[in-house]
Amino acid sequence: MTQNIKTNYNQLMQKEINDILLSGKKPTLLLHSCCGPCSSYVLRVLQEYFNITVFYYNPNLYPDKEYTKRLNEQKRLIKIYNKLAKEKNKNANAVYKLLPIKIKTIKFNPQEYYNAIKGQEDCSEGDKRCYLCYKLRIDKTAEIAKKFIFDYFTTTLTVSPYKNAEWVNELGEKAKDMFKNAKFLNNDFKKSEGYKKSIEYSKEYNLYRQNYCGCKFSINKKME
Ligand code: SF4
Repeated sequence: MTQNIKTNYNQLMQKEINDILLSGKKPTLLLHSCCGPCSSYVLRVLQEYFNITVFYYNPNLYPDKEYTKRLNEQKRLIKIYNKLAKEKNKNANAVYKLLPIKIKTIKFNPQEYYNAIKGQEDCSEGDKRCYLCYKLRIDKTAEIAKKFIFDYFTTTLTVSPYKNAEWVNELGEKAKDMFKNAKFLNNDFKKSEGYKKSIEYSKEYNLYRQNYCGCKFSINKKME
């Protein structure tokens, strides 16, 4: 849990994107998503440069119906974006054509979350429990990215001002080293008004926007 507050993760992402543009290829990206609203902004930023598969892996969600509700909204958003992409593609030249976004899920098993955060249940929000919760989801994303041979993996988690971008990026780099395959795309999506835009897009597409982070320990800690 070291912190390097000087690193500009957004700048690192831009540099990576510039290199991708120079290569003339659109790499595959496994994008872990916590929910439709956060991904609404991230997908807009990345869709032009990557062939994206959204990975909806959130065993932290409580109760079960919340998991399903967020998943359904995620799927609905992807459908909307794919429809919009078709329209945009009519006028775009081949290099800038947007590829359809796909979605991947694995069996919802909340026990994975409880095992991962064991002993930290009583932490306050933003503390060690959250670090372990990010780690669980980022490690699984790296593992699946390796299994299905993605070029990159990353997560939408940094859209939220309530999430620690240093931890997310540190964990992404560690997961990359552990699984030794896909590259981790550094990011801090809350920069450039990412969070504000995610709220605007959520309103535009009438997305369900939850008022708590997700686990049962956060259910009474309402966000704005
Ligand atoms: S508050 Fe959010 S990030 Fe922290 S453990 Fe709960 S679901 Fe995970």
